[in-house]
Amino acid sequence: MKMKKYAAFCLALMAMTAVKAEVIVSSPDGRIGVDFDVKDGKPVYSVIYDGQVAIEPSPLGLRTNMGDYTQDLKWDKEKTAKGDYSGNYALASLKEGQDHNFEFKTAIVQLSKNARPVAQENGRPQARRGDRGNNGPVMNIEFRVSNRDVAFRYTVLTQGDTRSCVIREEASTFQVPSNSLTFMAPQSNPMTGFARTAPSYETKFTLGEPVGKNGYGNGYVFPCLFEVPNADKAKALWILVSETGTDGNYVGCRLLGGNGGEYRIGFPQEGELNGWGSTSVQMALPGNTPWRTITIGHTPANIIETTVTWDLVDAKYPASKDYSKDYGKGMWSWIIGMDSSCNFDEQKRYIDFAAAMGYRSLLVDALWDVQIGRERIAELSRYAQSKGVGLYLWYNSNGSWNDAPQSPKGIMNSSRERRKEMKWMQEIGILGIKVDFFGGDKQPVMQLYEDILTDANDFGIMCIFHGCTLPRGWERMFPNYVASEAILASENLHFSQGFCDEEARDCGAMYPFTRNVVGSMDFGGSALNKYYNADNSRGSRRVTSDVYALATAVLFQSPVQHFALAPNNLTDAPEYAIDFMKTVPTKWDEVRFIDGYPGKYIIMARRSGDKWYIAGVNAMEQPIKQTLTLPMLEGGSTINLYMNDEVKPVKVSKKQTVKIEIPTNGGVVIVE
Ligand code: CA
Repeated sequence: MKMKKYAAFCLALMAMTAVKAEVIVSSPDGRIGVDFDVKDGKPVYSVIYDGQVAIEPSPLGLRTNMGDYTQDLKWDKEKTAKGDYSGNYALASLKEGQDHNFEFKTAIVQLSKNARPVAQENGRPQARRGDRGNNGPVMNIEFRVSNRDVAFRYTVLTQGDTRSCVIREEASTFQVPSNSLTFMAPQSNPMTGFARTAPSYETKFTLGEPVGKNGYGNGYVFPCLFEVPNADKAKALWILVSETGTDGNYVGCRLLGGNGGEYRIGFPQEGELNGWGSTSVQMALPGNTPWRTITIGHTPANIIETTVTWDLVDAKYPASKDYSKDYGKGMWSWIIGMDSSCNFDEQKRYIDFAAAMGYRSLLVDALWDVQIGRERIAELSRYAQSKGVGLYLWYNSNGSWNDAPQSPKGIMNSSRERRKEMKWMQEIGILGIKVDFFGGDKQPVMQLYEDILTDANDFGIMCIFHGCTLPRGWERMFPNYVASEAILASENLHFSQGFCDEEARDCGAMYPFTRNVVGSMDFGGSALNKYYNADNSRGSRRVTSDVYALATAVLFQSPVQHFALAPNNLTDAPEYAIDFMKTVPTKWDEVRFIDGYPGKYIIMARRSGDKWYIAGVNAMEQPIKQTLTLPMLEGGSTINLYMNDEVKPVKVSKKQTVKIEIPTNGGVVIVE
């Protein structure tokens, strides 16, 4: 090594060892520690799990139009506040619905701006441009740590008479170990895809790709999953990075970068919304940013079982009625029959089908306003209600932000128009709406989601979003919020044989580890048709088995599930499959990871009331043959085992084990 290079190397080493951070807060069980320090004026944190580094020293801070809060900061150590944050809630829309307890240890650090002059002009010291020269506190960083999760957020403080600020950039960084493997979905280029509606979180997840790419150049959407492999399997780490608590007061963020495992928060892209609207955040002071969350474990269990997304947020308004009574299964004709099926007679046939299945709802998709009309929708709603079925109506969110032509449009983007429409919906007994084709993650769009939800609650209307952003704690923040698409969903099975061929890998064995961890997911699947076509004989062919379809009804979670079933399935699908689809719950009380690896296979368990459902799918080329240890089942009891295209009663062994097989593209379900 040349002398000069060596000296630089030593300096770098010294700088690294000089960041002698201290553990500022640990999890209740002491296994997770967060280090924090301000080094050379720059705030830095790191995260340790069982003595191993999960997040290496990573910068924090905000760049605002009041000043640069990523540097020239000092830590007012004596002001550090430590405490607890714990509580209990019950929310039937979540994967852990009932009587849910949470416990976090907390630390709030206060940062002040060093008032030292940093630039010289005409030989005289000048305050840095854009810096208001305040030497009081400018910002707090709050950490919360549970036994699974680390979360942090910023509070920007009022400064003198300044009570409004623009946040131009967030420097929050997540430096994962450089040997990490990634499972995450690239952010799309803005104004691409169908009718220039992207980004809407509809790209394929990476399958254990090394760090170092930046997606298509625009980073990755949340949540982002990392595996840190280790020769000693017990020391492997799984890390899920996401965010929660985002509403109209912020933008939806993503992860950028990836060089050597260094990912940082990115704001929306300038081109979103056809270029309209800023990429930055407008905030009233004092103001909080959303929470950045990091969930860690030695297996994916902590990831799949985490509830951090909801633990850290509060309801923004009380529910105007008990929406959970109307959660349940539903049907939609569009996934098999497309636009032409949105006519009165076909919707009536689907209402009869929904009633025959004992389902709660039917989603009437796009173009109902022209193909059925408002008067006959009222008639259809009356007919549906006479059969115990409620209707969801589809709307275009547009607006001006993309070219999506489907109507009804120009309603959900206007408070006056949508309140008038929602009043009508309330009068004719509509259960909910599905609003599609939103335009990116800029602050005005996040405000639009919040406004639609808030208005809909006034009229007792539930909301599903499609062609949309990731929900970020919304199940708890907005009581009438149901679910979002924000994923490559079942429509792609209709559109593409290639997508069908990889369904098990890209959906069934991937989404339970990633997208569905942090929010209810409107996938719209569990098809029992052989083909995605109304006559069930042509078009995209389903390559997954019938038991796979049943398994995903358990693996994919949303309190309202619109399944891709069709009336012909009453006669052409196996009886055991139809009977299962009649009884599978959509409300869950507990979730347990059993085994699996993203993109290869998953086996997990959900409890509804006192009944456990264990479900698995296999995307690997070789079949899975395993003896599962299932501590939730009673030894010696008899369960129903859905396997190899049949259902059989099987005895659980005394040691609480059950032998299973899952073929390629197949599934397994065990029901108590
Ligand atoms: Ca979509």
